[in-house]
Amino acid sequence: MIYLDHNATTPVDPEVLNAMLPLLREHFANPASPHPAGQAVARLVDRARRDVAILAGARPRDVVFTSGATEAANLAIAGVLATAPPTRRRVLVGATEHPAVLAAAHAAAELHGGSVQTVRVHPSGAIDLAHLRALLHPMPPSAAVPSPIAGPAADPGGSGGSRGRGEADSGPAGDSGPAGEGAKVALVAVMAANNETGTLNDPRPVAALAHEAGALFLCDVTQAFGRIPVSVTESGIDLAVASAHKIYGPKGTGALIAGRSVRARLTPLIHGGGQERGLRAGTLNTPGIVGFGAAARIAAAMMDDEATRHRAQTELLFDLLVGWLGAGALEVNGPVEDGTGRPGPVRLPNTLNLRFVDADADAVQSCLPDVAVSAGSACHGTGNEPSPVLLAMGRSATAARESLRFSVGRFTTVDQIHAAAATVARAVLRVQSLRAVGSGEVPQPAEPGEPERRSAASDRPAASDRPAAGWADEVTPTQGQTPELPVPRSALP
Ligand code: PLP
Repeated sequence: MIYLDHNATTPVDPEVLNAMLPLLREHFANPASPHPAGQAVARLVDRARRDVAILAGARPRDVVFTSGATEAANLAIAGVLATAPPTRRRVLVGATEHPAVLAAAHAAAELHGGSVQTVRVHPSGAIDLAHLRALLHPMPPSAAVPSPIAGPAADPGGSGGSRGRGEADSGPAGDSGPAGEGAKVALVAVMAANNETGTLNDPRPVAALAHEAGALFLCDVTQAFGRIPVSVTESGIDLAVASAHKIYGPKGTGALIAGRSVRARLTPLIHGGGQERGLRAGTLNTPGIVGFGAAARIAAAMMDDEATRHRAQTELLFDLLVGWLGAGALEVNGPVEDGTGRPGPVRLPNTLNLRFVDADADAVQSCLPDVAVSAGSACHGTGNEPSPVLLAMGRSATAARESLRFSVGRFTTVDQIHAAAATVARAVLRVQSLRAVGSGEVPQPAEPGEPERRSAASDRPAASDRPAAGWADEVTPTQGQTPELPVPRSALP
C-alpha cells in the first residue's frame, strides 16, 4: 500500500509510540493525584504542554488539551457565543472551513441565538479579505448595492485550475439565525491551511480585520501545525485548534490554544472535575497527551527538512502525471504558479489536489486498491457529493467530482511517488476509456496485457509535456497509447 493520504491522518511515529508506552505501563497514575506517582505523570503532561506550546508559538498555560481539533473548535465557538452580548453573536466563517468549524458554528449559533455568514474565497482557495471586511462592516441596507457576482471572488493571482464558476454558488450565505441583521461579529473563523487543497491563509491580516471590528479570531491550524511555522501569539490568533493525529501522534488528542483573556471569556462544554483550568473536565488522556507532546517535539525538529522533501515529492508527482497524461488532462485545485499552471508555492508542501478531466474520482479510486488517496468528497456526506471546498473555489460540480487529493508524509519515498504516479495514470486512462466506450467515443478498451488506449484524452499534449529528468528517458509515450510504465509491472495492481 502506498499511503498518500496524510491529511486524513498520519501513522504514529515509532518514537511517539515509545514515548507513550510508559504511560500505559508504569506511569499510569492520575496526574491530578498529589502523591509522587501522580506528580511524576503531571510532570510528563507539563512537558507535553510545553512542547505543543512551542510548536504553536504560544505559552504552555494557553494550551487546553481536548479529544481533538473538533472538540477544540466546538469549545471555542460555543464558548465564545455563550458569553457574547446578544447584540454581538454573528460568526463569520471561511467558505472552505472544515466541518469541525462549520458545523460547530451553526450549532452554537442556533443554541445561543446567533447567526453564521460565509466569507468568500478566491479561486485559489485563499480567503477574500475584501469580502471579510465588508461582512465585518456592513453598509446600512439603504446604501448597500447588490453584488452582480455571487461566486468566488476574482483572484488577485495564484488561482488554480478551471476558472469556470461553480454550479453551486459559494457566495455570501444567508444568515442562519435571528441575530443576522445588524448584529456585531463575535468571532471570525479562517483556517491557516486547507485540508483538501493545501491553500494557505496568512492569519495576520485576518486577525487585524477581526480585531478592528471588536471580534475574536479563531484559526484552525490543524493542517498547518508541524508542517509550516505557526505562531499563535505573533499572528494575533485568539483561539487556535490543533490535533495530534495529523502530526504522527495518536488519534483522540488535540488542543485548544487560547490566551488568558480569551480563556476567561469561554464557557466549558464538559463539566466535571475542573481539569484544564476548568475548561475541559475529565481525567487527562495522559498517553495521548504525552504522545502529542513527543509528536510536536519531533515535528519542530524535522519541519524544515520535511517541507523541502514534501514539496519536491508533490512537484515530482505532478510532473510525472503530466508526463503520463498530458498537461491538458490535469488541473491543479489550489494555488498555482503564475504563467505555468504548476502547483504554486503558497500551499502546504505535502498537498496536491488535482482534477483529472473526464475521470470520475470515485471510479479512479476504485481502480487504485494499493494507493490510498482521497476524493475531495470523502468526508462530505454520503454518495458522490462534490466537495463543498472545491465548489466554493468556483470549480464546477463535474470538476469537483473528478478531483483527487494526494498528501505525502514523513515516510513517503521517491520510489513510491514514481509507482503511485504510474498507477494513478493508468487508473485515470482506464476510467477515461471506459467512459468513452460508454459514450461511444472509442470502440474498445485495451485487452489485458495490451497497451491501453487514450480515449477522450487523445487530443491532449503528451510527449511534449513530459518532464525531462530520469524516468522520461526510459519510455516514449506516443499519441494514442498508454506508455510503458517506468516501474516493474509486478509492482502494479
Ligand atoms: N480541522 C481540519 C482542517 C482537519 O483537517 C481536521 C481533520 O480532518 C479537523 C479539523 C478535525 O480534527 P480531529 O480529527 O482531531 O477532530
